[in-house]
Amino acid sequence: MKGRSTVWLGIIGIILLFSGHTPCMAQDEDSRMLREIYSAALSKGKAYEWLNHLSTQIGGRLSGSVEAQQAVDYTRKELDELGLDRVWLQPVMVPKWVRGTAEFAYIESQPGNTNNVPICALGGSVATPAGGLKAEILEVQGIDELKALDPAMVEGKIVFYNRPMDPTLIHTFEAYSGCVDQRYSGAEEAARKGAVGVIVRSMNLRLDDFPHTGSMSYGDLSLEERIPAAAISTNGAELLSTTLKLNPDIRFYFNQTCRQLPDVESYNVIGEIRGSEKPEEVILVGGHLDSWDLGDGAHDDGAGCVQSMEVLSLLKEVGYVPKRTIRVVLFMNEENGLRGGRKYAEEAAKQKEHHLLALESDAGGFTPRGFSFDCEAEAFQQVLKWKTLFEPYLVHYFSQGGSGADIGPLKSQATVLSGLRPDSQRYFDYHHAENDTFDAVNKRELELGAATMASLVYLFDAYGDQFESDSGKP
Ligand SMILES: [Zn+2]
Repeated sequence: MKGRSTVWLGIIGIILLFSGHTPCMAQDEDSRMLREIYSAALSKGKAYEWLNHLSTQIGGRLSGSVEAQQAVDYTRKELDELGLDRVWLQPVMVPKWVRGTAEFAYIESQPGNTNNVPICALGGSVATPAGGLKAEILEVQGIDELKALDPAMVEGKIVFYNRPMDPTLIHTFEAYSGCVDQRYSGAEEAARKGAVGVIVRSMNLRLDDFPHTGSMSYGDLSLEERIPAAAISTNGAELLSTTLKLNPDIRFYFNQTCRQLPDVESYNVIGEIRGSEKPEEVILVGGHLDSWDLGDGAHDDGAGCVQSMEVLSLLKEVGYVPKRTIRVVLFMNEENGLRGGRKYAEEAAKQKEHHLLALESDAGGFTPRGFSFDCEAEAFQQVLKWKTLFEPYLVHYFSQGGSGADIGPLKSQATVLSGLRPDSQRYFDYHHAENDTFDAVNKRELELGAATMASLVYLFDAYGDQFESDSGKP
């Protein structure tokens, strides 16, 4: 008996060896492919040079600006040079808000006794009256505190929202989410209480002198009801708060000349490698090409754009022929409108395109830790099977929930939405501020992120059939 079973085991072993489909062999093959992708990214990557051009030569790329158009032209040209099967521009109307002349602000402890503090207008804010605005200032820790106040206490004052990001949270995006309502809706709520202006503590975990801009909304307030809103640096916020404690009667002055102009035409930049077996099925990688105007948008989101471009470049570099269509999309206007993301989803729906995966990188060009996946539980179980393949690259954070703003509108048209999750400890040092420049991005960290994205794209392409049967989506 023993002899016969040994013979059978041997035969089974030989069959498995030659079938090429044992889980173990597939795992080996995948490990080799990931190794090739990471090696190519770290030795022949183009992302860093592309980012240098986007950040240093072009600079901040606010929607509707000349720089945004330069970025469209540049990335289109670079995608053309990769020899993709198709590169095109997708027109989209975007809002155009301009900052105007440099903002100016000071704390006035007594007439003639002033301290300048760094501020910047929030994106979408109205200007102060010509010559600036000076008023008493009222500090609150958030919208709830403001709402509980008697309007008589708020009337005619500048409201100062000073709730800091929670430093104890490991995922700094959670700390951001816990505060950003002050920036987004603070002016609307303060205006409803009769305030004349709003100053918001910058969304920054560090104490420094950079004010951080970002989008805001007035809700349904009429033009006449809108009040100017600006961010103050974290050091400025500390100074203002301390000064107020010493003397609640101080005044705050600020001047800004920003304004909203009519919408203009811009573009999403798109390129693709057409699938060799299932061209109708799309795997998307992307980031947003627009940025705020204070810095160069290197981390947010130049990094995500060049990493996404690099994914296609790497697959070509290692000679991988995808079964499905691999598409890079550089979305326009994520920061102050999300028009590009919405437009792309709208066009994809018209074309009846199905996205097996849409993967966005929009959390900075830092060391990749893993991914978040927005998908059904069965699809997530499928993805989890690949986790060990990433462990040699110290990428092991696979969580369910969340992806990226630009791909959000694709949700009903995609099996899996995913976001690259880099280390987030330093992201808010730079986010939407003047110091978000090329030198803040590390070459290897950027390249590792691109390789991590390309590896996930490879796995989805190679094993996509398993998702289709699992998810029940065609
Ligand atoms: Zn971003």
